[in-house]
Formats: sequence, structure tokens, C-alpha cells
Amino acid sequence: MNSFATHIVQDAALKEADNAAVPHLVPAAMFELDSADDVSFSIHGQSADEQNYVYSRWANPTVRRLERRLARLEDGGDAVAFASGMAAITGLMLHLLEPGHHVVVPEICYAGVAEFVHVTLPRQGVEVTAADTSNLEAVEGALRPHTRLVYVETPSNPTLQLTDIRAVADLAHEVGAHLAVDSTIATPAATRPLKLGADFVIHSLTKYLNGHGDALGGIVVGMQQDMDGLRTDAAVHLGATLSPFNAWLILRGLRSLWIRMQAHSSGASQVAEFLENHPAVARVNYPGLRSHPGHELAREQMDLFGGLLSFRLHENSAAWARSLTTQLRLFSYAVSLGELRSLIYYIPTAEILTTSFRLTRDAADRYRAMAGDGLFRVSVGIEDPADLCEDLERALGSTAINAAG
Ligand SMILES: *Cc1c(COP(=O)(O)O)cnc(C)c1O
Repeated sequence: MNSFATHIVQDAALKEADNAAVPHLVPAAMFELDSADDVSFSIHGQSADEQNYVYSRWANPTVRRLERRLARLEDGGDAVAFASGMAAITGLMLHLLEPGHHVVVPEICYAGVAEFVHVTLPRQGVEVTAADTSNLEAVEGALRPHTRLVYVETPSNPTLQLTDIRAVADLAHEVGAHLAVDSTIATPAATRPLKLGADFVIHSLTKYLNGHGDALGGIVVGMQQDMDGLRTDAAVHLGATLSPFNAWLILRGLRSLWIRMQAHSSGASQVAEFLENHPAVARVNYPGLRSHPGHELAREQMDLFGGLLSFRLHENSAAWARSLTTQLRLFSYAVSLGELRSLIYYIPTAEILTTSFRLTRDAADRYRAMAGDGLFRVSVGIEDPADLCEDLERALGSTAINAAG
């Protein structure tokens, strides 16, 4: 199948044994075995052979269907699904990293990941270096002979910075490290990191892949031989496996990924341009804007620029943030992203620097220069972009932003 638009719909129609035209939901926790010889404890979880289901923490038919589907969409050998994006990321890291290993992570990334790598990994004896992964010299400078993993997020949440996957894969492989890419914001509709040289691609399925804001999930896609060990360590032993019901919802949501991503992306482009031209707005971060420092890379690495953007105001950010729940009619004031409706959320700089990002003085200065007092993160939904701009226009003209002066 050559085109993504066709593949995303047709693959979902793979027939079940009874000719059901859409995937079955199999909620069973355990499966009856044909004989006592069917199961050996030494192989539990080692292989997710769909003919031999035993217990759904190891493998489940509905979850396997989602795993195999994502593996094909990402050009990987296999995949392991988790209860959330965080479970996928932490499961992969705990599987790959041992005491004495070194990992390179982005200075700015999803806050939960930043907290985990700076608090939990060092407790496990893992050495962590944070680098601006959009800067190849910084990545090169952060690598050590004992670096086992380079972890990047592109585009990044909430700054929408881009990392050159192909170039960072080469740098990581030179020192014998793996490259894992959190591609949640890009989705396979825009970027296929494994094709660009990454070893693992990670998604929070909670976001665009499910797309309807009604299920948590996560996934790691990679080569077949790497996935078996990950399944044993992270899924079977740590146990944060995806529920069959969520897998079923995500399989259902996935079918409309292509048209949703096109709508999110064209809407976000229009909202980004509107914001960039608004006098109250100091800066907009969106890979589709010419002003974005990674715009050229985005044109090469992304087939769509995506639905997420962030921006900051010249002044009165905190006051405006407090007024949003009453000023905005279409945007929901909520965390997360990739929902059908538009979402907005304020991330105060002082707070995120203390709670999540453990930045050096230089890196904190760079973040402040970009984010000011705080960033407004916007997940542009699939509404008419003209209506969204009108909603923002009215809110940007509100007294909260213009009064204090
Ligand atoms: C939301 C998100 C995560 C975490 O996923 P959950 O499903 O919420 O655990 C990780 N990475 C990125 C880029 C995200 O946006």
C-alpha cells in the first residue's frame, strides 16, 4: 500500500477469523490452554505469538492488533503497548539503562519525562546529561563513551523545537548508543523516525493517535529483536500494560488519523499566522512558520507541521491566563493535546523551571528568552480556524491583557 491516506483506513479492515469487518474487542484477562504442556514459565512474555495467548499482561489479541498496526505504520518490526505514554518512555529507559550507563536527554521536553530523568534515573545509578538537541554540536558535546541512549522529542512539548533525527541518529550510533524518538506531536502522518535512523519511536497514544481524548495509552516501536526483551522487562514485569478496551478505542480513533492531522495542521497554520500578526503577541512557536528556527528542517522531516503551537504575550500573561476560562468560548482550558476540540493551557516559566526542568543557568536563560513569563500551549482542534481566530481575537482584546499596561 503506497499512500498513508489509504493505508490508515484499509489496514483497519483486516479480517477477523469470523469475518467481522472491524476489530474484535477481547477483554479476557486469561486464555484457556489446550494442555498443561502449552505454557512454559521460562518463555512467559518472551514472545507475543498471537496463537498462544496465556495472560493479557503478556499479550492480548486486541492489544496485539494495535501493536502490529503501529509497527507497520512506523516501519518497525514490532511494538509494545503500555498503559500511558509515560509508561512507554519509563519502561524503555528502565529496560535499556543500567547503573553506570549514561543517557542524553533534551533540556526541554515533556515535563513528566524531565522529572523522571532528573529524579528517578540518577537514583538507579544512571548518569544523565541534558542538551539542547536542536543543536547538533550540543548533542555531540554531551555524548560519552558509555552513553547508551540518546532520547529526543521532536517537535518538543511545549516549545515545538525540532531535532534532526537523521543527524542525531548518526552521532548516537558513532558511540554505540541507541536513539529513541518521542514522536507524539509529529505522529506517523508527519514523520517516520525509524526510516530516518532512530532505533525506537515512542508515542503517547493518548494524544493524536487516539485523537478523541477518551483513552490513555503509549507505545514503543522498534526492531523485532529489541521488542521481545522490552516486553519482558517493561510490560510483563513492570506491568503497566494497555487495557484491551483502550486498545480497541485507539484502533478505532487511528482510522481517521490522516484526515484529522490534515485538519489539525491546516488549522494550526492559520491560528499561528493570526497570532504572529497580533500586536499583543510577542512570539509564536510553530514549525510551519518561516520564523521558526527549525522551519527548513521541518520541511524536510515532516509531511505536515502538526496541530500544536505555543506563544507568549508582551505582558500581563498571568492575568490573561486567569481570564481565559471566561473569555474563550471555543477553546477548553485544559492540559493534553490532540483532542478534536481546541485546548489551551498556560505554563508559567518560574513554576516549570522549579518543578520540572532542572536547567543550568545558561539553559534557564535561553528558556526565559523564548518563553518570557510563561507560554500558552495551544492544541488546535478541527473546528473552523476562522472561528478559532475570532475567539482568540476577542480574548486578546480583553481588559485582562490591556488594563494594567
Ligand atoms: C503527553 C505526552 C507524553 C506522556 O504521555 P501520557 O499518555 O500522558 O502518559 C509524553 N510525551 C509527549 C510529547 C507528550 O505530549
